[in-house]
Amino acid sequence: MQNLRVELGERSYTISIEAGILGRTGEIISDLTPARQVLLVSNPTVFPLYGDKVISSLHKAGFEVEVALMPDGEVYKNMEEALKVLDKAVDFNLERTGIIAALGGGVVGDLAGLVAAVYQRGINFVQIPTTLLSQVDSSVGGKVAVNHPRGKNLIGAFHQPLAVIIDPLTLHTLSEREYKSGLGEVVKYGLIYDESFFAFLENNASAVKERRGEIIAELIYRSCRIKSMIVEKDEKEQGIRALLNLGHTFGHALEKITDYKAYSHGEAVAMGTVAASLLARERGYITEEVFKRILNLYRILDIYKEFPPFDPEVVYAAMLNDKKVMYGKMRLILPAGIGQAVIADDVEKEEIIRAIRRAQN
Ligand code: NAD
Ligand code: MG
Repeated sequence: MQNLRVELGERSYTISIEAGILGRTGEIISDLTPARQVLLVSNPTVFPLYGDKVISSLHKAGFEVEVALMPDGEVYKNMEEALKVLDKAVDFNLERTGIIAALGGGVVGDLAGLVAAVYQRGINFVQIPTTLLSQVDSSVGGKVAVNHPRGKNLIGAFHQPLAVIIDPLTLHTLSEREYKSGLGEVVKYGLIYDESFFAFLENNASAVKERRGEIIAELIYRSCRIKSMIVEKDEKEQGIRALLNLGHTFGHALEKITDYKAYSHGEAVAMGTVAASLLARERGYITEEVFKRILNLYRILDIYKEFPPFDPEVVYAAMLNDKKVMYGKMRLILPAGIGQAVIADDVEKEEIIRAIRRAQN
């Protein structure tokens, strides 16, 4: 088992990564708290696959368990569904010392986390992420939220978990599309922060694609380590945490134009990173060689083929709506080498249009 401690003072917690660890959920939680109640939040896709294993482990450790299932899908990450889970918590007489646990991907984790943040002004929250994206990204860092009809994640909080329990075996039932979506974020970590991790992905590309056990466990561990180091330095995104948005302003624009249907999030981030890299290349922040290395890793991992042929003006307009636009200025994260990125507050419209055109060629 690999344990990773996230140091955030009294909000510190441990991420535990191990094949088969779901069967030890109860034991892990009971070591951390005298609580006896767990409200397990999941969905009808994940719960039939892994619910039994988690519940029997919780029962074995003496917990009383209630289950709240929300429908599967990003559109259900909303206040209405959150209120239903809150109703469950009230019906269950969940005490202030009780636990809300999320078993599922980022949608379940974000919604359950928000409920945990507000129920009785905040109770303990345990993440049991089951998608690659949630294992390497959304379960770490304490951001929890639901969507508003007018925008993603508009209703949220910072609520750090009590523990994160990651079982890489759950990835075997994950679709190819969702797996690759997580890989898009994994590549990002290497690119912004850790050249040796980037090289690890280059050297193990086929094992990564085949989801080979030891490689995946290491990939998850190293990704979580990078994300948690960044979060430790900047818990509430006032500085360096912004680097995690590499590729996201372009990527969100592509997701929005296609109504979130054409690409997975990770694919859109990969496309966005290609455009951001071309912009960085033009500014002289990276060499042609570095650009080719980035493109090549995406290609061998099969997460990038081409930049879609939308009118660059349309992409730009969608980018302006991103919440990372501050006081009307476009703020972009740009690579400055493998393992390095910078925040650029002064990006001109023309540079963005040119970068998109080049990406489309
Ligand atoms: P998701 O939760 O929708 O999961 C994707 C699909 O996989 C769903 O249909 C789900 O039911 C299914 N699934 C989950 N685990 C499975 C398994 N082991 N086997 C088979 N199917 C499984 O999507 P996601 O990519 O995990 O998360 C996306 C969400 O995460 C978005 O709402 C995004 O805003 C959020 N997010 C949050 C943060 C954060 O810091 N809080 C960071 C990144 C993303
Ligand atoms: Mg992302």
